[in-house]
Amino acid sequence: MKTKIGLLYGGKSAEHKVSLQTALAVIKALDLEKFEIHPIYINVEGQWIKGPQLTAPAENVKALEFSNENQLSPLSLAPTLFSNSEKQNNEPLDVIFPLLHGPNGEDGTVQGLLELLNLPYVGNGVLASAAGMDKVMMKNVFAQAGLAQVNYVAFIRTEWEKARDSVYAKVEEQLGYPCFVKPANLGSSVGISKCTNRTELEAAFVEAFQFDRKVIIEEGVTAREIEVGILGNDDPKCSIAGEIVPKKDFYDYKAKYEDGDTALIIPADVTEEEYQQIKEMAIQAFKALDCSGLVRADFFLTKDGKALINEVNTMPGFTPFSMFPLLWKHTGVEYPQLIETLVDLAKERHAEKQ
Ligand code: ADP
Ligand code: MG
Ligand code: MG
Repeated sequence: MKTKIGLLYGGKSAEHKVSLQTALAVIKALDLEKFEIHPIYINVEGQWIKGPQLTAPAENVKALEFSNENQLSPLSLAPTLFSNSEKQNNEPLDVIFPLLHGPNGEDGTVQGLLELLNLPYVGNGVLASAAGMDKVMMKNVFAQAGLAQVNYVAFIRTEWEKARDSVYAKVEEQLGYPCFVKPANLGSSVGISKCTNRTELEAAFVEAFQFDRKVIIEEGVTAREIEVGILGNDDPKCSIAGEIVPKKDFYDYKAKYEDGDTALIIPADVTEEEYQQIKEMAIQAFKALDCSGLVRADFFLTKDGKALINEVNTMPGFTPFSMFPLLWKHTGVEYPQLIETLVDLAKERHAEKQ
């Protein structure tokens, strides 16, 4: 029996196009002898559209952008919810693979829906996804787990609006310059600014509050950026390490998606001691957030060899040229095998819950 995979991609987010590229790559990598591919496209308006089962890999992303004639209620994907209803016209899927990034995809909302529908799905659950998307919650959990990280403070918009000067003074007193101001709940470096003085700090707050009602401000460090991939459920494994070398001041949105001139170095040139430190911290972070399936854990490595955890990404970039799949490729797990492992981990996790 073939495994029926529902590929969920697109999405009402800034990363819509990236998601389509990822879906195409995953489709091309799936073995059609083992899997049935059922595309579920979320268009930019947020409508769910069911595509026909793919009997051959799609040729390009255009072929995956279905028009909204076949709109689908997400609820109709439930294998059991509507089992008595004659309206059920979809064959139950065995597993959903959400290839979505950012809010409404990586933040626990889609995961919550899939939980309600009792469908196995690839990757992190509701709690880990939600906590991983909120940089304040994530750092609070890391602090509680004793993981080394930069100092930070957080404010919600109303606190800032009431007393801007005292908010800025608090940042200067507790963190100083340079510091980084970030919306709490985003990714892809959107809304993030580096500040070296009060004027820049004021502008950075205005900018970050355009994207979220909560911002986090972090002490700026001068450090290398090292990343590892974690794969597994209860007994997670760590990949070799990679390094990102932005050609700019920091790894901002343009550097990530537009310039394409950020170098990925795999394996990263780190000592065995540095690697062990990062590996242990990454696995600890994975467990502290109660992750499952996969995460990419990102670190700052200071000149004196101290690792600070920056963040985990619960649905990291997943094209064959993204850091996470490349890290696993260099660790000995090729892209098709990585996908199959994630599907198996999803089934395993679901079976444990029953
Ligand atoms: P995102 O979730 O959007 O990727 P990050 O927290 O990883 O946000 O920040 C994006 C980039 O900004 C990092 O990859 C790094 O280049 C830079 N950066 C962020 N925080 C700091 C910091 N505290 N010190 C130095 N550089 C930072
Ligand atoms: Mg992130
Ligand atoms: Mg990041």
